[in-house]
Amino acid sequence: MYMNGSGSYLDVLLSSESFSDLISRFYIISKISEFDNNLLNEIKESQKNIQKKKQSIELKQKELLSLKAELTVKQNELKKANIEKQSYYDSINEDLVNTEKILEKEVEESNRIKEEIRTVTEKNFSSDQDNSKKHSEDRIKQESRQESKQESRQEVKQKSKQESGKRAAILKTSDTGYSPVITSPFGMRFHPILKTYKMHTGIDYAAPNGTPIYAMSDGKVIVSRYSNSYGNYVVIDHGDGISTLYSHNSSNLVSVGESVKAGQAVAEMGETGYATGPHVHFEVRINGEPVNPEPYVIIGD
Ligand SMILES: [Zn+2]
Repeated sequence: MYMNGSGSYLDVLLSSESFSDLISRFYIISKISEFDNNLLNEIKESQKNIQKKKQSIELKQKELLSLKAELTVKQNELKKANIEKQSYYDSINEDLVNTEKILEKEVEESNRIKEEIRTVTEKNFSSDQDNSKKHSEDRIKQESRQESKQESRQEVKQKSKQESGKRAAILKTSDTGYSPVITSPFGMRFHPILKTYKMHTGIDYAAPNGTPIYAMSDGKVIVSRYSNSYGNYVVIDHGDGISTLYSHNSSNLVSVGESVKAGQAVAEMGETGYATGPHVHFEVRINGEPVNPEPYVIIGD
Protein backbone atom coordinates (compact mmCIF):
# COMPACT_ATOMS: atom_id res chain seq x y z
CA MET A 1 0.00 0.00 0.00
CA TYR A 2 2.74 2.38 -0.91
CA MET A 3 0.63 5.34 -1.99
CA ASN A 4 1.25 8.90 -3.16
CA GLY A 5 3.70 9.93 -0.43
CA SER A 6 2.96 11.35 3.01
CA GLY A 7 0.15 13.56 1.54
CA SER A 8 -2.16 10.60 1.26
CA TYR A 9 -1.32 9.47 4.83
CA LEU A 10 -2.25 13.02 6.06
CA ASP A 11 -5.62 12.85 4.23
CA VAL A 12 -6.37 9.54 5.92
CA LEU A 13 -5.52 10.97 9.38
CA LEU A 14 -7.49 14.23 8.84
CA SER A 15 -10.60 12.34 7.77
CA SER A 16 -10.69 10.56 11.20
CA GLU A 17 -14.12 10.57 12.78
CA SER A 18 -12.94 10.34 16.42
CA PHE A 19 -9.77 10.36 18.49
CA SER A 20 -9.77 6.59 18.84
CA ASP A 21 -10.30 6.33 15.10
CA LEU A 22 -7.29 8.67 14.62
CA ILE A 23 -5.16 6.49 16.93
CA SER A 24 -6.11 3.33 15.12
CA ARG A 25 -5.57 5.00 11.73
CA PHE A 26 -2.17 6.27 12.88
CA TYR A 27 -1.27 2.76 14.03
CA ILE A 28 -2.32 1.24 10.70
CA ILE A 29 -0.41 3.91 8.75
CA SER A 30 2.76 3.40 10.82
CA LYS A 31 2.49 -0.37 10.19
CA ILE A 32 1.96 0.19 6.49
CA SER A 33 4.91 2.57 6.35
CA GLU A 34 7.11 0.04 8.16
CA PHE A 35 6.00 -2.61 5.72
CA ASP A 36 6.74 -0.29 2.79
CA ASN A 37 10.23 0.41 4.15
CA ASN A 38 10.92 -3.28 4.52
CA LEU A 39 9.65 -3.88 1.03
CA LEU A 40 11.88 -1.10 -0.30
CA ASN A 41 14.89 -2.59 1.45
CA GLU A 42 14.10 -6.04 0.06
CA ILE A 43 13.75 -4.57 -3.41
CA LYS A 44 17.10 -2.78 -3.03
CA GLU A 45 18.69 -6.02 -1.82
CA SER A 46 17.18 -7.92 -4.75
CA GLN A 47 18.44 -5.26 -7.14
CA LYS A 48 21.94 -5.64 -5.69
CA ASN A 49 21.73 -9.41 -6.11
CA ILE A 50 20.44 -9.05 -9.64
CA GLN A 51 23.35 -6.68 -10.40
CA LYS A 52 25.83 -9.22 -9.00
CA LYS A 53 24.24 -12.02 -11.01
CA LYS A 54 24.28 -9.84 -14.12
CA GLN A 55 28.01 -9.21 -13.63
CA SER A 56 28.74 -12.90 -13.14
CA ILE A 57 26.65 -13.78 -16.25
CA GLU A 58 28.55 -11.16 -18.25
CA LEU A 59 31.84 -12.67 -17.03
CA LYS A 60 30.66 -16.16 -18.03
CA GLN A 61 29.61 -14.81 -21.44
CA LYS A 62 33.09 -13.38 -21.93
CA GLU A 63 34.62 -16.72 -20.94
CA LEU A 64 32.28 -18.56 -23.35
CA LEU A 65 33.21 -16.17 -26.16
CA SER A 66 36.92 -16.79 -25.63
CA LEU A 67 36.29 -20.57 -25.46
CA LYS A 68 34.31 -20.29 -28.69
CA ALA A 69 37.23 -18.46 -30.34
CA GLU A 70 39.62 -21.18 -29.10
CA LEU A 71 37.29 -23.85 -30.45
CA THR A 72 37.22 -22.16 -33.86
CA VAL A 73 41.04 -22.14 -33.91
CA LYS A 74 41.12 -25.84 -32.95
CA GLN A 75 38.48 -26.68 -35.57
CA ASN A 76 40.54 -24.93 -38.23
CA GLU A 77 43.66 -26.81 -37.11
CA LEU A 78 41.71 -30.08 -37.30
CA LYS A 79 40.42 -29.22 -40.77
CA LYS A 80 43.98 -28.51 -41.90
CA ALA A 81 45.23 -31.77 -40.32
CA ASN A 82 42.44 -33.68 -42.07
CA ILE A 83 43.39 -32.18 -45.41
CA GLU A 84 47.05 -33.12 -44.77
CA LYS A 85 46.03 -36.63 -43.74
CA GLN A 86 43.93 -37.04 -46.88
CA SER A 87 46.74 -35.88 -49.15
CA TYR A 88 49.13 -38.26 -47.31
CA TYR A 89 46.69 -41.16 -47.86
CA ASP A 90 46.32 -40.12 -51.50
CA SER A 91 50.11 -40.15 -51.97
CA ILE A 92 50.36 -43.59 -50.31
CA ASN A 93 47.63 -44.90 -52.59
CA GLU A 94 49.42 -43.43 -55.57
CA ASP A 95 52.67 -45.11 -54.43
CA LEU A 96 50.83 -48.38 -54.02
CA VAL A 97 49.35 -48.18 -57.51
CA ASN A 98 52.76 -47.27 -58.97
CA THR A 99 54.53 -50.07 -57.08
CA GLU A 100 51.94 -52.58 -58.25
CA LYS A 101 52.31 -51.36 -61.85
CA ILE A 102 56.12 -51.60 -61.67
CA LEU A 103 55.92 -55.12 -60.20
CA GLU A 104 53.56 -56.13 -63.02
CA LYS A 105 56.04 -54.69 -65.52
CA GLU A 106 58.83 -56.65 -63.78
CA VAL A 107 56.90 -59.91 -64.23
CA GLU A 108 56.20 -59.00 -67.87
CA GLU A 109 59.89 -58.24 -68.42
CA SER A 110 60.90 -61.46 -66.65
CA ASN A 111 58.63 -63.51 -68.93
CA ARG A 112 59.94 -61.63 -71.96
CA ILE A 113 63.52 -62.53 -70.88
CA LYS A 114 62.48 -66.17 -70.53
CA GLU A 115 61.15 -66.26 -74.10
CA GLU A 116 64.19 -64.39 -75.38
CA ILE A 117 66.63 -66.79 -73.66
CA ARG A 118 64.77 -69.78 -75.10
CA THR A 119 64.75 -68.34 -78.62
CA VAL A 120 68.42 -67.29 -78.54
CA THR A 121 69.73 -70.47 -76.88
CA GLU A 122 67.76 -72.66 -79.29
CA LYS A 123 69.45 -70.80 -82.12
CA ASN A 124 72.86 -71.14 -80.40
CA PHE A 125 72.14 -74.80 -79.66
CA SER A 126 71.47 -75.62 -83.30
CA SER A 127 74.58 -73.73 -84.48
CA ASP A 128 76.60 -75.40 -81.68
CA GLN A 129 75.37 -78.76 -82.94
CA ASP A 130 76.57 -77.88 -86.43
CA ASN A 131 79.92 -76.84 -84.99
CA SER A 132 80.27 -79.92 -82.81
CA LYS A 133 79.32 -82.15 -85.72
CA LYS A 134 82.11 -80.58 -87.78
CA HIS A 135 84.37 -80.67 -84.72
CA SER A 136 83.76 -84.38 -84.10
CA GLU A 137 84.31 -85.18 -87.76
CA ASP A 138 87.67 -83.37 -87.55
CA ARG A 139 88.42 -85.14 -84.30
CA ILE A 140 87.71 -88.56 -85.77
CA LYS A 141 90.15 -87.76 -88.57
CA GLN A 142 92.68 -86.44 -86.08
CA GLU A 143 92.25 -89.41 -83.76
CA SER A 144 92.66 -91.90 -86.53
CA ARG A 145 95.88 -90.08 -87.36
CA GLN A 146 97.09 -90.02 -83.73
CA GLU A 147 95.91 -93.42 -82.51
CA SER A 148 99.02 -93.71 -80.39
CA LYS A 149 97.73 -90.89 -78.11
CA GLN A 150 95.88 -92.48 -75.17
CA GLU A 151 93.49 -89.58 -74.55
CA SER A 152 90.00 -91.00 -75.06
CA ARG A 153 87.04 -89.02 -76.39
CA GLN A 154 85.33 -89.42 -73.03
CA GLU A 155 88.24 -87.75 -71.24
CA VAL A 156 88.17 -84.78 -73.64
CA LYS A 157 84.47 -84.33 -73.04
CA GLN A 158 84.98 -84.44 -69.26
CA LYS A 159 87.79 -81.89 -69.43
CA SER A 160 85.80 -79.40 -71.52
CA LYS A 161 82.85 -79.71 -69.19
CA GLN A 162 85.07 -78.84 -66.26
CA GLU A 163 86.44 -75.82 -68.10
CA SER A 164 83.05 -74.44 -69.13
CA GLY A 165 81.83 -74.99 -65.57
CA LYS A 166 84.63 -72.82 -64.13
CA ARG A 167 83.02 -70.15 -62.01
CA ALA A 168 84.18 -66.76 -60.72
CA ALA A 169 82.90 -64.39 -58.03
CA ILE A 170 80.31 -61.93 -59.36
CA LEU A 171 81.32 -59.41 -56.66
CA LYS A 172 84.80 -59.08 -55.19
CA THR A 173 85.64 -58.22 -51.60
CA SER A 174 88.73 -56.42 -52.89
CA ASP A 175 86.42 -53.92 -54.69
CA THR A 176 84.22 -53.12 -51.71
CA GLY A 177 86.50 -53.80 -48.74
CA TYR A 178 83.85 -56.13 -47.27
CA SER A 179 81.74 -59.05 -48.41
CA PRO A 180 78.61 -57.59 -50.09
CA VAL A 181 75.46 -58.47 -48.14
CA ILE A 182 72.28 -60.14 -49.38
CA THR A 183 69.48 -57.58 -49.02
CA SER A 184 66.79 -59.84 -50.43
CA PRO A 185 67.00 -63.61 -50.98
CA PHE A 186 65.42 -65.70 -53.74
CA GLY A 187 61.83 -66.90 -53.31
CA MET A 188 58.44 -65.74 -52.10
CA ARG A 189 58.69 -62.57 -50.04
CA PHE A 190 56.17 -60.42 -48.23
CA HIS A 191 55.80 -57.03 -49.87
CA PRO A 192 55.80 -54.42 -47.05
CA ILE A 193 53.62 -51.94 -48.97
CA LEU A 194 51.37 -54.23 -50.99
CA LYS A 195 50.89 -56.60 -48.00
CA THR A 196 50.97 -59.62 -50.33
CA TYR A 197 53.51 -62.35 -51.11
CA LYS A 198 55.44 -61.79 -54.34
CA MET A 199 57.99 -64.03 -56.04
CA HIS A 200 61.55 -62.69 -55.98
CA THR A 201 63.27 -64.22 -59.00
CA GLY A 202 66.86 -63.51 -57.93
CA ILE A 203 69.14 -62.52 -55.05
CA ASP A 204 69.84 -58.85 -54.28
CA TYR A 205 73.37 -57.91 -53.18
CA ALA A 206 73.96 -54.34 -52.02
CA ALA A 207 77.24 -52.49 -52.55
CA PRO A 208 78.15 -48.90 -53.53
CA ASN A 209 77.30 -47.41 -56.92
CA GLY A 210 79.90 -48.29 -59.57
CA THR A 211 81.07 -51.55 -57.91
CA PRO A 212 82.17 -53.88 -60.75
CA ILE A 213 79.98 -56.91 -61.43
CA TYR A 214 81.70 -59.93 -62.99
CA ALA A 215 80.43 -62.74 -65.24
CA MET A 216 79.76 -65.91 -63.22
CA SER A 217 81.31 -68.12 -65.92
CA ASP A 218 82.29 -68.12 -69.59
CA GLY A 219 79.49 -67.35 -71.99
CA LYS A 220 77.94 -65.16 -74.61
CA VAL A 221 76.04 -61.92 -74.00
CA ILE A 222 72.48 -62.38 -75.26
CA VAL A 223 70.86 -59.28 -73.69
CA SER A 224 72.29 -55.86 -72.83
CA ARG A 225 69.61 -53.22 -72.53
CA TYR A 226 67.47 -50.94 -70.33
CA SER A 227 63.95 -51.64 -69.05
CA ASN A 228 61.74 -49.63 -66.63
CA SER A 229 61.71 -52.43 -64.08
CA TYR A 230 65.16 -54.10 -64.40
CA GLY A 231 66.96 -50.88 -65.37
CA ASN A 232 70.21 -51.58 -67.25
CA TYR A 233 70.69 -55.33 -67.35
CA VAL A 234 72.81 -57.99 -68.96
CA VAL A 235 71.97 -61.64 -69.66
CA ILE A 236 74.77 -64.13 -70.39
CA ASP A 237 74.17 -67.55 -71.90
CA HIS A 238 76.61 -70.10 -70.42
CA GLY A 239 75.44 -73.07 -72.49
CA ASP A 240 73.76 -76.25 -71.17
CA GLY A 241 70.57 -74.17 -70.76
CA ILE A 242 72.16 -72.03 -68.01
CA SER A 243 72.06 -68.23 -68.19
CA THR A 244 72.72 -65.47 -65.66
CA LEU A 245 71.20 -61.99 -65.35
CA TYR A 246 72.72 -58.88 -63.72
CA SER A 247 70.36 -55.91 -63.31
CA HIS A 248 69.82 -52.32 -61.97
CA ASN A 249 73.33 -51.54 -63.28
CA SER A 250 74.53 -47.95 -63.53
CA SER A 251 76.06 -49.08 -66.82
CA ASN A 252 76.45 -52.24 -68.87
CA LEU A 253 80.03 -52.90 -69.99
CA VAL A 254 79.27 -55.53 -72.66
CA SER A 255 77.09 -55.75 -75.75
CA VAL A 256 74.97 -58.45 -77.37
CA GLY A 257 76.97 -61.13 -79.19
CA GLU A 258 80.13 -60.53 -77.16
CA SER A 259 81.88 -63.58 -75.67
CA VAL A 260 82.85 -63.13 -72.03
CA LYS A 261 85.18 -65.01 -69.69
CA ALA A 262 84.39 -66.03 -66.11
CA GLY A 263 85.36 -63.11 -63.87
CA GLN A 264 85.22 -60.50 -66.67
CA ALA A 265 83.55 -57.22 -65.61
CA VAL A 266 80.20 -57.03 -67.40
CA ALA A 267 78.49 -54.16 -65.57
CA GLU A 268 78.77 -51.53 -62.84
CA MET A 269 76.42 -51.57 -59.88
CA GLY A 270 73.64 -48.98 -59.79
CA GLU A 271 70.01 -48.37 -58.94
CA THR A 272 68.43 -48.00 -62.39
CA GLY A 273 64.88 -49.29 -62.91
CA TYR A 274 62.82 -50.24 -59.89
CA ALA A 275 65.36 -50.04 -57.07
CA THR A 276 65.44 -48.27 -53.72
CA GLY A 277 69.22 -48.24 -53.50
CA PRO A 278 72.33 -49.45 -55.34
CA HIS A 279 72.32 -53.24 -55.62
CA VAL A 280 72.61 -56.03 -58.16
CA HIS A 281 69.58 -58.22 -58.71
CA PHE A 282 71.29 -61.45 -59.80
CA GLU A 283 69.39 -64.28 -61.46
CA VAL A 284 70.34 -67.76 -62.60
CA ARG A 285 67.99 -69.22 -65.17
CA ILE A 286 67.71 -72.78 -66.42
CA ASN A 287 66.06 -72.89 -69.85
CA GLY A 288 64.89 -69.34 -69.18
CA GLU A 289 63.21 -70.21 -65.86
CA PRO A 290 64.62 -68.42 -62.77
CA VAL A 291 66.05 -70.81 -60.14
CA ASN A 292 67.63 -70.18 -56.74
CA PRO A 293 71.09 -68.76 -57.61
CA GLU A 294 72.56 -69.74 -54.23
CA PRO A 295 74.14 -73.06 -55.33
CA TYR A 296 75.82 -71.30 -58.29
CA VAL A 297 76.86 -67.85 -57.13
CA ILE A 298 80.23 -66.97 -55.65
CA ILE A 299 80.58 -63.74 -53.68
CA GLY A 300 83.93 -62.36 -52.55
CA ASP A 301 87.42 -63.29 -53.78
ZN1 LIG B 1 65.84 -58.27 -56.74
